[in-house]
Amino acid sequence: MKRAKAIRWSLAASSWLFAGALVAFNLDGGRWNGGSTVFHTGMSGISPSGISWSQALSDSLDEWTRETDFTFVENTAYSNPCAGYSVNTNDPDGFPAGAGNGLNGADFREDVCGNEFGAGVLAITLTLSAPGKLGFANYTDSDIVFNSAFSWDIYSGPRKSGIIDFRRVALHELGHAIGLDHESTKLAIMAPRLTDLDSLAADDINGINSIYGAPNGSCLITDLATRVVTRNALQEGDCRILDLFNGGSDTSFVDAYRLTLVEETRLNLAMESDNLDSVIIIANPQLGIEAVFDDGEVDCNVAGTLTLQAGTWLLLANTFDVPQVCPGNTGTYTLSISDSDFPRMGNTGSTDGGEAALALFSGGATADGGQTFRENFTRLENIDVQAEILIDPDDAGASGHLYVLATLGDGRQFMKNSEGRFIPFSGSLATLQAASTRVLDSVEQLDIIRGLNGEASGLAGQSIVVHVGYALASNPARIHYGTQPIRFSISN
Ligand SMILES: [Zn+2]
Repeated sequence: MKRAKAIRWSLAASSWLFAGALVAFNLDGGRWNGGSTVFHTGMSGISPSGISWSQALSDSLDEWTRETDFTFVENTAYSNPCAGYSVNTNDPDGFPAGAGNGLNGADFREDVCGNEFGAGVLAITLTLSAPGKLGFANYTDSDIVFNSAFSWDIYSGPRKSGIIDFRRVALHELGHAIGLDHESTKLAIMAPRLTDLDSLAADDINGINSIYGAPNGSCLITDLATRVVTRNALQEGDCRILDLFNGGSDTSFVDAYRLTLVEETRLNLAMESDNLDSVIIIANPQLGIEAVFDDGEVDCNVAGTLTLQAGTWLLLANTFDVPQVCPGNTGTYTLSISDSDFPRMGNTGSTDGGEAALALFSGGATADGGQTFRENFTRLENIDVQAEILIDPDDAGASGHLYVLATLGDGRQFMKNSEGRFIPFSGSLATLQAASTRVLDSVEQLDIIRGLNGEASGLAGQSIVVHVGYALASNPARIHYGTQPIRFSISN
């Protein structure tokens, strides 16, 4: 990720009878997020050959969609390409004034929304984009203005003298609209001048697929379970964002993981590091950005929650190209992910200050069977307190102890013993009894309290803090626990 910049609009105009830059592909990586956009085709009128302009425009959209990894979604309504634009008196030959209307459309015009077509210019594509955080611009609006001063028709094959084929010009302009510049050296519809070619060429298709195709195959993508804690590192030799996205200027390293969800799933995500600014990016398989988690400049960690639809998703463990508040832009990190309904209980700490386990603690208090977790209850509600521990993969299968410790607002402390009863705790960890001693599963569910009623228990008016933890039987002094306990209160 790159340091966030102030949002600004960048503008691009293109024509077809003027030579453009000699680049095959879109090297700045600008793109429509997710490789798709809606284009309005509802132009009025019929060409001399009897085919409507809207049909030819629709056919051009279909050709890009059929031949490449980009998807045009057709809206058959009309959208005025000049809506939101007006003459730019400071630059009458340049980009018109205004910020468009956010809808992609096309039509014939005598001028470019008040500005001048240059001599011999058949059409102009007006594209607006906003700078993104990943080293490339995100397109937001693209409109095509065809020059009505020419004689237009719709036909295949070689050019006819004085009659311009609308469909191949539309193909060319749509190529601009989705990120291609002119191509002067290879056979291409993106040639800077009209030719006898009337359909997409391999170079056009390759160009678009380089922007919108699957992630660069040289970037390893690792499958990741939806309840797991894993440790990895961003380091020299890893893919960079500009490698993964095939473009742009973001040189930060990235590890790519694949999540497969069989149903809509709420995920708790966290990335922690002592070395680098943690950033988590969620994207679809076409690298359309769904969410970016970044804590700004607070610390090196980041956490977040989101709900994703069923299907395949990419989780990108990323950092900034230039460190923000952390020592560097390489180093180890811990990534934890949970599809549990429970709120996450902070990071993992250890009571003896030793290395914390790769564990994830979550839990909460509920009065509706786990539909919602809350921190405030009435004296008449029946409260359940539950927790879940994702055990460090190195610890799962070993003998261990599970601990539950409750502290009341008045300072009294209780531990849950192996008989399921809460008994007073002195405060000395050496005397802490385990709620359970067992061979640890990879996921441990803790049923901490069932049906706690403030009225019946005499706890109305109290606040209650619940810690949970586990230790290996081989190292009982090192209890791993969630650093943010479950907290709730019962009103009087
Ligand atoms: Zn052009």
